[in-house]
Amino acid sequence: MSLFSAVEMAPRDPILGLNEQFNADTNPNKVNLGVGVYFDDNGKLPLLQCVQAAEKTMMEKPTARGYLPIDGIVAYDNAVKGLVFGVDSEPVTSGRVATVQAIGGTGGLKIGADFLKKLNPAAKVLISDPSWENHRALFTNAGFTVDSYAYFDAAANGGKGGVNFDGMLSSLNAAAAGTVVVLHACCHNPTGYDITPEQWDQVIAVVKAKNLTPFLDMAYQGFGYGIAEDGAVIQKFVAAGLNFFVSTSFSKSFSLYGERVGGLSVLCKDKEEAGRVLSQLKIVIRTNYSNPPTHGGAVVAAVLNNPELRALWEKELGEMRVRIKAMRQKLVDGLKAAGVKQDMSFITTQIGMFSYSGLSKDQMVRLRSEFGVYGTDTGRMCVAALNSKNIDYVCQAIAKVI
Ligand code: PMP
Repeated sequence: MSLFSAVEMAPRDPILGLNEQFNADTNPNKVNLGVGVYFDDNGKLPLLQCVQAAEKTMMEKPTARGYLPIDGIVAYDNAVKGLVFGVDSEPVTSGRVATVQAIGGTGGLKIGADFLKKLNPAAKVLISDPSWENHRALFTNAGFTVDSYAYFDAAANGGKGGVNFDGMLSSLNAAAAGTVVVLHACCHNPTGYDITPEQWDQVIAVVKAKNLTPFLDMAYQGFGYGIAEDGAVIQKFVAAGLNFFVSTSFSKSFSLYGERVGGLSVLCKDKEEAGRVLSQLKIVIRTNYSNPPTHGGAVVAAVLNNPELRALWEKELGEMRVRIKAMRQKLVDGLKAAGVKQDMSFITTQIGMFSYSGLSKDQMVRLRSEFGVYGTDTGRMCVAALNSKNIDYVCQAIAKVI
């Protein structure tokens, strides 16, 4: 008999479990399209030049590592605000945004969730159906009841799949006041389908009319159409006069996955309110991990606050975005060339790092077992892991299981 005798084995994380399976696979042609990570055309995780340049400067003048303030590096928080809302925007200049550095986008979501649970303990949380795997678990562990709003419909667009927008609106319309609605600001994970600017206007109208609490998860700013373009949805929420939450992640956009750099911004009524909210966010942080780590935040702040490095970052991020789009087109063309009869051009209408391929669980299992091509059972594939060397193989494999 031990203290832990009754502890049950938790299920494996579905994506990380897939990674373990991939690593153990001896197929020399294996391709990992499971995890949401961007790889360059050589199949390598990039170390961005802007990051290297910032780190070189930091190494030349090494600094001691004292504790950071609870809410992180001031220059970092200001850079996040500028990126999310616009440097000269009214929310930023009026001081009504409370921003904290967070341990990745996940950390930003969790700080927001813990704060919201204290603010409105009875609220429900709605996430998209489907959503990023961790949304449900994260908000559930923060003590919320989590339901979903309609989002993806496999039968939409004549069976090609797309957003069930009417369903989404009616889910939101049916939600009780105060319900926290987690929205993907851009590059919806896992489907790759975003709603249009006009549809955002309608969502915002319902959020406002029903007094819902919007929580925008912005894990892919710059991967859709551009930094400002992807951030445009934030401007819409500001223009509607709403108070809302935005989590930011630099894991993908800076290729700094392991540094855990992200943030949480809360748009408040005025500066005085932002001060009160910030004080509460700091309590959440202090009682969880005290204060954030130094390195990743310092690198991102150095890049975003230096005009030359910032321009270099935008260029490198642009290259990642363009390469992903090129791979989508190559996938569509390659599938056709490999003999796939059905029209797969919907892949190029999706956006961001993922594609809901429409493949069934059985087909995804066959892709793994027969060809070493790894995607999730839901048919999600990370198109950002395709490259000029593996694309033909992936197309041939898909053609064989379709
Ligand atoms: N939200 C979404 C939608 C994501 O896809 C991810 C990353 N997979 C995150 C949040 C978390 O980002 P991070 O790795 O920075 O914690």
